[in-house]
Amino acid sequence: DGLAVRCSGCGIPLQTENPDQPGYLPEKALEREPVICQRCFRIKNYNEASSVTVDQDEFLALLSKIGDKDALVIHIVDLFDFEGSMISGLQRFVGNNPVLLVVNKIDLLPKVSNWNKIRNWVQHQAKEQGLKTVDIVLCSARKNQGFDRLLEAVAEYRGDRDVYVVGATNVGKSTLINRLIRDYSDLEQELTTSRYPGTTLDMVNIPLDDGRAIIDTPGIVYPWRFSEIVSRRNLGILMPDKPLKPAVYQLNAGQTLFFGAMARFDFIEGEHQSFTCYIGSGLGIHRTKLERADQLFAEHAGELLSPPTKEELDEMPEWTRHEFRISRNSQSDVFISGLGWIRINGTNGALIAVHAPRGIRVLVRPSLI
Ligand code: GDP
Repeated sequence: DGLAVRCSGCGIPLQTENPDQPGYLPEKALEREPVICQRCFRIKNYNEASSVTVDQDEFLALLSKIGDKDALVIHIVDLFDFEGSMISGLQRFVGNNPVLLVVNKIDLLPKVSNWNKIRNWVQHQAKEQGLKTVDIVLCSARKNQGFDRLLEAVAEYRGDRDVYVVGATNVGKSTLINRLIRDYSDLEQELTTSRYPGTTLDMVNIPLDDGRAIIDTPGIVYPWRFSEIVSRRNLGILMPDKPLKPAVYQLNAGQTLFFGAMARFDFIEGEHQSFTCYIGSGLGIHRTKLERADQLFAEHAGELLSPPTKEELDEMPEWTRHEFRISRNSQSDVFISGLGWIRINGTNGALIAVHAPRGIRVLVRPSLI
């Protein structure tokens, strides 16, 4: 697939095989003059960024360039998959450049959420990960919430610098960049006439009115997120598109919840208590006895317990078991990257376990809600 031609927009080597990878263009677009990749074409002609992805190593190579620049870095994370979409180690790469943390998809939280608490939580979690942020903006690219604040913050911290936008796949980076393009550049005029300064690698420069640019980096693929291991159809099921409806389960020790056949939650030891599931409503929750759980899975995974289907299950990694002891008087979530989380009201403590495909990130955190 390696054509010996480079995009005259961003400089990436062109290829016609894989639409999700940098440098893609449809075969017939090779006849156009000048030859540019689909991503640059879209930005140039429709003022529209589209999603392009790279793996972690490639991404780190890109990131390490940012440290040498004088820029504002916007790091977009997905509130539904916070720990899955945080770029760990970002701090090391951006050098002294300020990082504005943009937390997207807040429309997915229940309407009654306490936003101050959520903001504090984000601040705390970012700090835990060693990330210094100049500010945190909560927003919804889809529902148009928080954008005034975002634009204010960008203006405040950007000064006369370029803006690099970084994020994992599916966090809403394109949606958000498209908004920034609309608000910051003199649209048609500016974009259709300006020649793209041939940037290195696969970053795309979107020129701004003041001679600066928004630089769109490819979305980083993290293998520990459910969203990266399921089919497109199942991604639509896992990714909530309406506010989460907490599902409360009163469980006794020795009971198990199945989330389709994607993952399983065991309550092993502890007093009768409630567990609140924040999981997309497309995934059915099935309650059973812990002692019956293995057998139920063996007999009904892909049928009663689905998605995934039997065939899709064969394509997914085997489950591993993660055991956690939740201490007394703590309010914790068991987080399963890309699937959601289960809030444990740990007044009396509990011993629990999560079974999830090998490689999927599972952890305990202070409760978000
Ligand atoms: P990118 O891969 O980071 O460029 O993300 P996209 O902008 O392509 O969005 C990925 C998915 O997330 C799409 O299905 C969007 O509809 C969805 N999405 C983006 N922003 C939001 C948001 O604010 N709320 C919700 N619920 N979904 C969003």
